[in-house]
Amino acid sequence: MKKIFITSQYRRYRFCACVLILCLFSFQLSFAQAISGKCVGVSDGDTITMLIEGHTEKIRLYGIDCPEKNQPFGQRAKQLASNLVFGKDVNLDRVGIDRYGRTIGRVYIEGKSLNEELIRAGLAWHYKQYSSDSNLAVLEREARLQKKGLWVDPQPLPPWEFRKAKRGASSSGGDPQFSLNALRSAEAVAFRGNTKSKVFHRAGCKQFNCRNCTAEFASREAAISVGYRVCGVCRP
Ligand SMILES: [Zn+2]
Repeated sequence: MKKIFITSQYRRYRFCACVLILCLFSFQLSFAQAISGKCVGVSDGDTITMLIEGHTEKIRLYGIDCPEKNQPFGQRAKQLASNLVFGKDVNLDRVGIDRYGRTIGRVYIEGKSLNEELIRAGLAWHYKQYSSDSNLAVLEREARLQKKGLWVDPQPLPPWEFRKAKRGASSSGGDPQFSLNALRSAEAVAFRGNTKSKVFHRAGCKQFNCRNCTAEFASREAAISVGYRVCGVCRP
């Protein structure tokens, strides 16, 4: 009996040792994945092109989703990514490949993570559907609390819903009402004014759809220029 016990103990130790060695090996492999190259293109906030050993590679930044170009802050996200990495030497940590054949990865510049910097600035969402990275989740929460970038809007439209709405609108498969509502809040009317009180609100404010909120403005300047005052709650 004792001998059998010792043997099974030994087997357990041997198993643990194997697991440990495998862990160390894969740890080393993941380090070997850090690749250096030059950023030669920025398509939008979360997609860049790198030149690596003579070939170009499109990189979709892992774990984040920037507003689309025609959404609020889409251009600002692209601008920040350009300022940080365009024309510079960067490091890439490959995470995987998406369904369009693009590399999914983390991009680093001078030790800083581009993925994290975009979220920190309030110019990207943590892409929860594809990432459970708790660091990105924390950064998004902080940006939200500080109302940075796109979080000045209390109810910004997530880019994945924006894309879904666009797809829905262009094919009969989608829910047309959802598509319409989403597109309307994303593109058409950014501000509404109360024609009685002459106070105007941003999309997302509780008062945005009030009974007298029938004046529509594409910009806050447009509202102010015709004598409307900003709402104290949503501060458009
Ligand atoms: Zn308001």
